[in-house]
Amino acid sequence: MHLSLQLARLAVSRPQRAIRLPRRPPLLQLRAWSHSPSSASTRHSSLCPSCGTKLPTALPVCPKCDYIAKFQHSITYHELLGLPYEPNPFVVDSALLKRRFIEAQRICHPDAWVTKSEDQKDAALDVSNMVNAAYNTLSSPLDRIEYLLRLNGIETGEADQLDDLELIAEVMQAREEIEGIQPGHAARLHALKDENDVKMSEVTKAIEVLVAREDWEAAKAAAVRLKYLQGVDDAVKLRMDQVTTWA
Ligand SMILES: [Zn+2]
Repeated sequence: MHLSLQLARLAVSRPQRAIRLPRRPPLLQLRAWSHSPSSASTRHSSLCPSCGTKLPTALPVCPKCDYIAKFQHSITYHELLGLPYEPNPFVVDSALLKRRFIEAQRICHPDAWVTKSEDQKDAALDVSNMVNAAYNTLSSPLDRIEYLLRLNGIETGEADQLDDLELIAEVMQAREEIEGIQPGHAARLHALKDENDVKMSEVTKAIEVLVAREDWEAAKAAAVRLKYLQGVDDAVKLRMDQVTTWA
């Protein structure tokens, strides 16, 4: 088999999430929803257009007067969940992310609007979908860097070539070994996962530095490395499930 075909099989094939891309650059985006997101705290100061109360989250949702509206403009996933974009949008506090996600879903989940008007239900679905997309994207380092690359005008895709020959060999070897592991050898799978976790953590740290430097081309090359390592991680987890089921 030709090397590039083999590599295409190795690359993790992930369902494309619907990402609503802002049309303006991120820094302009950050000012779009009329609060002051450049501060590190990014707590919200928007007022409800209906009753004038301070809105509890960055969402156009007021639990006090049941005001809810679809997003009227593009907004970054960071802003949507009240997380800081500056100084480094790749750095996300996962505990804070989860807390903001739960707070957001508490007020916009369609179940909470089920007795309201069709317009309100429709808006709740729209806002809730955006909140889910933001959470899913920001919680995965790979999805997060691909999102940031797209925000900065750099597309990523299945055709992206891995340029690191050593890593190509390691990934191919690991994938082959994973597929060959039989029940009773789960310890080897755990060891392979640990080795791969170390590599993923190194690439993730490298991406953090490259994003801080706004070196988007190098960040893209690192994102491709992360995608291949993510492919190994997915394969290990799948094999772990399989050998457990057989055992
Ligand atoms: Zn209100």
